[in-house]
Amino acid sequence: MQSMGLEQKIDLLMSMALDDQEGVPPGPRATSSHHQRAGGWRDGTEPAADEQAPSARGLPPRLRHTKDVGALRPLNIRNVRTAGGTRTTLLRILMTNACSFNCHYCPMRRDRNLPRTLLKPDELVRIFLAAHARGWCQGLFITTGIPGRPVKVMDDLIQVLALLRERHGFRGYIHVKMVPGAEDAQIERLTALASRVSLNLEAPCGEHLTQIAPEKNLATTVAALERTRAQVLAGWAEARAGRPPDRLLPGGSAGMTMQFVVGATSDTDRTILGTVSDLYAGGGIHHSQFSAFRPIRETPMEGMKATPALREHRLYQADHLLRQYGFAAGEIAYDDNGNLPLSVDPKCAWALANPERFPVEIRTASYEELVRVPGIGPGTARRIVAERRTATLRGLADLRKLGAVTTRAAGFLTLGGRRLQSVRWAEQLGFWRPEEETGAYQLQYEVSPGTFR
Ligand code: SF4
Repeated sequence: MQSMGLEQKIDLLMSMALDDQEGVPPGPRATSSHHQRAGGWRDGTEPAADEQAPSARGLPPRLRHTKDVGALRPLNIRNVRTAGGTRTTLLRILMTNACSFNCHYCPMRRDRNLPRTLLKPDELVRIFLAAHARGWCQGLFITTGIPGRPVKVMDDLIQVLALLRERHGFRGYIHVKMVPGAEDAQIERLTALASRVSLNLEAPCGEHLTQIAPEKNLATTVAALERTRAQVLAGWAEARAGRPPDRLLPGGSAGMTMQFVVGATSDTDRTILGTVSDLYAGGGIHHSQFSAFRPIRETPMEGMKATPALREHRLYQADHLLRQYGFAAGEIAYDDNGNLPLSVDPKCAWALANPERFPVEIRTASYEELVRVPGIGPGTARRIVAERRTATLRGLADLRKLGAVTTRAAGFLTLGGRRLQSVRWAEQLGFWRPEEETGAYQLQYEVSPGTFR
């Protein structure tokens, strides 16, 4: 590990704390996902809390030269949405980029040659408080490599949070990534201090995880998830029973997140979403994160093809269907390989696979029926139901005012028994071959995919 001054350490670690989300790929893909916009979805859904679905921003920020900006500047601060729906800004930082693990997909793996450094807990706290005092950020997202024993790394993470909460009285949002191999008492202490705890599952199957991360064990990570989950659920139950919130000991009250690297193993989207759905069933999990695999130079997987960013995007969309639209995992439509179709979003794919459910009559349909119409999200469905009580909807313009993406919805609707459009939007697609341009990037990550999700 190199000897560096604090300024150099910050520069290196914050340069590795940049976004690994590619954004909606350019060209045809943007057309097939045109309802999406940065920070939200035109059909009424919202991206997940502090790790939103990708947005169109061109090249990933990590490709920009951090030294052009300087070290302690708000370049690693991200505007995010919390579980409660409010906006906040998080300082995102690695405690260290050193790691004793050797995960095949990760640029921080121990066999890879790169400058390594580490922030001591009090240094990290000082950095955060300085950025917070300048008004650059309201909360913290902290993650880390694992140099040496995981229990030592967990102790350092706990020390960071304990210093912030107990010595400095910081009551704001802290998202922390749990490291594999933590002891039960450490999991409980870290969860007690954090607003949100996340765990990187990486793969939905233990055998496949071993192929890409030989020192990781899915069962161990799931056991940590269950222990964290029990604590989060107990806290929620106490809150429902009237216990006042303790912002110095939030107990993971924002809900957990979990993360998967997609395409690094042969796991299909059906397998991934099946695992996700099973884990959601136990409660306490706010959302999942999906990171498309990218080959990294000087790693065992450098010769593998990149996973299309569009596949990651489709997984996020399907995850929204599970969490916000009332879809069961078994209702998601897959192609013959068990993956989500790339050419059409999962809701359209479901609608086209279930023609007997359409058209939906806009004046009488239930909320549950409306929310399954492509181009109508939960917010729009609620507004339509409310508007119908006092007004008569007369046409597409009325639906647009309520938030519907009528170019997508019209072909699936009737209004007063009259078809609004004879051709369904999804059937007009097919000009594009997403597989032609997906996965075109051969980017070099400087941080493990999904580290800051
Ligand atoms: S994925 Fe995490 S544990 Fe694995 S090498 Fe990278 S930093 Fe270390």
